Amino acid sequence: MTTDSSTAEVSEEPGRAEDRQGIDEIHILWISEGMSCDGDTVSLTAAGQPSIEDLVLGLIPGLPKVNLVNKVLSPSLGGEDFLAPYRAAVRGDLTTPFILVIEGSIPNQNIIEGDGYWTSFGNDPETGEPQTLNWWIDQLAPKAWAVVAAGTCATFGGIHAMAGNPTGCMGLADYLGWDFTSQGGLPVVNVPGCPIQPENFMETLIWVLYHAAGSAPPPPLDHMLRPQWLFGKTVHEGCDRGSYYEQASFAKDYNSPKCLVKTGCWGPVVNCNVPKRGWMAGIGGCPNVGGICIGCTMPGFPDAFMPFMDEPPGGTLSSLAIKPYGAVVRRLRGLTNELVNHEPKWRHNKRKLTSGYDPHWRP
Ligand code: SF4
Ligand code: SF4
Ligand code: SF4
Repeated sequence: MTTDSSTAEVSEEPGRAEDRQGIDEIHILWISEGMSCDGDTVSLTAAGQPSIEDLVLGLIPGLPKVNLVNKVLSPSLGGEDFLAPYRAAVRGDLTTPFILVIEGSIPNQNIIEGDGYWTSFGNDPETGEPQTLNWWIDQLAPKAWAVVAAGTCATFGGIHAMAGNPTGCMGLADYLGWDFTSQGGLPVVNVPGCPIQPENFMETLIWVLYHAAGSAPPPPLDHMLRPQWLFGKTVHEGCDRGSYYEQASFAKDYNSPKCLVKTGCWGPVVNCNVPKRGWMAGIGGCPNVGGICIGCTMPGFPDAFMPFMDEPPGGTLSSLAIKPYGAVVRRLRGLTNELVNHEPKWRHNKRKLTSGYDPHWRP
């Protein structure tokens, strides 16, 4: 399906590592049957730069042709019609390489082996038995050109994997191994968020697709396999309320424009760009609009950030340390602000010019 000699090989053996250059058509096989609320799929529909429509209609120059298969967005009525491309990929019959996207956390089937299942995706055509998410991942991940985890559940386990859970849930890299490598030579690509910020996910997907087309290097990922350019900064570094923090102006309740650290915001230690980017189309962004950051993008979420709405332990110390500095800075800025809030005295409508203009000035 590609335009050079490597393309023919891709058609015969979709997704081989040595064929990573020049893929011009690709499937995205999206499975949201992890322990999931489908919120990441819903969130993705809000992407606008580019939108899903731009992607599937081929409006983005230089990308491979994309065949997106997602149950919410599928025109099929479901059942075997919907499952056909997944089954073809399991058999190795899919006509193009594919990217496997998993949404939701991965339960541990081993702890109940032979005694039911935690979550499934279709039924075995021969036995009629449910086919577990784990079975699909085992079948598809080794054949996939790239494997992408969408949302905090799929990346690190998320809410379903908190202490005391009965399912033994985990993230995709915990399941496949953090050293997993796809047919395209990539590790699992993690895009956390509960749900994903739609442009974050779309940007990452576009980078992977340009890489598949042979026109971009692999996406740079950090030690938790997150895109570095999206998760390299903290919430605090992008928060509209940062200046309140610096001036030690802290909110005591939620009906305040001041810094929310004392009402439970973990922003200073959380990697997330949502305050800069907004939830969708630049709108919202947790602390910017009054919501404390509870660390939903983080590997330790939710346990490390509970109980929510209590002041984080580090927040007590840092807000105490900044108090004397903040009080002085706030006062000095107040004085300067008062000063620059007046017009100069030479702006008037009297008969005499007092601006300092010298009509006899010579060079
Ligand atoms: Fe739902 Fe959040 Fe899990 Fe996504 S990460 S499936 S939005 S609970
Ligand atoms: Fe930092 Fe949170 Fe305060 Fe914003 S509200 S400045 S992220 S502590
Ligand atoms: Fe999650 Fe905090 Fe980012 Fe909001 S700001 S999306 S709570 S990590």
